[in-house]
Amino acid sequence: MALRKERLPETRVRIFEDHGWLCHLCKQPIDPKLRTPHPSAATLDHVVPLARGGRDWIANIRPAHLRCNRRKGRGPLARGDRYYPV
Ligand SMILES: [Zn+2]
Repeated sequence: MALRKERLPETRVRIFEDHGWLCHLCKQPIDPKLRTPHPSAATLDHVVPLARGGRDWIANIRPAHLRCNRRKGRGPLARGDRYYPV
């Protein structure tokens, strides 16, 4: 089964590979084949949010699942949120 990660720009793929395709928030593997809006899709998380002065640079970017990235950005899940287990 061919991976579809070639759709990602090369730099993004390198970041994922540098981190072994592990989510830096939950430490679980990320499946390169999944695409947003799948909650386990690969996203890049800014360790220091750009809004707080973080720089859009490799050292500030780490892989995260979409659901983990959203959870971090929004704080604890509120009742009624539409996240679901994978
Ligand atoms: Zn995660």
